[in-house]
Amino acid sequence: MIDFSLTEEQLALRDTVRKFVQTEIIPHAHRYDVSGDFPHDVIRKAWENGLMNPAVPEKFGGLGLGITEDVIMNEEMGAGCLGMTTSIAVNTLALYPILIGGTDEQIKHWITPFLNEPHLASFCLTEPGAGSDAGSLSLHAKDEGSHFVLNGSKMWITNAGHSHLLTVFATTNKELRSKGTVCLVVPTKTPGVSMGKHEDKMGQRCSDTRAITFEM
Ligand SMILES: Cc1cc2nc3c(=O)[nH]c(=O)nc-3n(C[C@H](O)[C@H](O)[C@H](O)COP(=O)(O)OP(=O)(O)OC[C@H]3O[C@@H](n4cnc5c(N)ncnc54)[C@H](O)[C@@H]3O)c2cc1C
Repeated sequence: MIDFSLTEEQLALRDTVRKFVQTEIIPHAHRYDVSGDFPHDVIRKAWENGLMNPAVPEKFGGLGLGITEDVIMNEEMGAGCLGMTTSIAVNTLALYPILIGGTDEQIKHWITPFLNEPHLASFCLTEPGAGSDAGSLSLHAKDEGSHFVLNGSKMWITNAGHSHLLTVFATTNKELRSKGTVCLVVPTKTPGVSMGKHEDKMGQRCSDTRAITFEM
């Protein structure tokens, strides 16, 4: 028989996050939803309380929590403010490709700054012509041997205006569809990376959503 009940640890995590939401998210949610401003102060508090980057393994200094714990956290935070939760959840999502595909050395290099400061990352998959069908990416990654050159654009990218790091999905050969896809780690300040305007949305308003253009 499958048992879907939460463990003692998961229940304790849920209660901790619920308390944080009551005291640190809900009192500010309406103000940020009206203004659409980015909630830097709440993000910092979430980071200080260990509610960011839950998936980073313990051997790299993180909490090493799993997907179920991530879902519990997002569900609780989402009850308080979907905009703030989108920013926090997408930051975790953006680090996953590094945690999944990176060497220990790469993980240490790219992830450690996120444990030392409330840095943010963006997960860059969607394009003007590629949403659900992620195999139809057009952002081109030219392999130059020691590096890749990116040209094209992304859209609806969460945290874009406040990110330190982008994980960018691009194609080396569009005809190969998903088999031609690479995921590249791009520091936001890389020359040739430019951010579009903050989208004024109907929901998740305080999450920062922008287009990104790569012209290298
Ligand atoms: C607030 C916000 C934040 C976002 N943040 C990010 C981000 O950080 N990074 C990122 O990469 N993307 C982000 N996105 C983009 C989001 O992930 C895409 O909107 C999503 O992938 C869907 O793509 P689309 O909007 O082009 O819709 P489409 O792919 O055009 O789909 C439209 C509708 O058609 C349905 N549909 C599509 N294909 C089929 C099919 N073959 N059969 C049946 N139904 C189908 C879909 O389920 C959907 O209901 C964000 C979007 C929003 C609104």
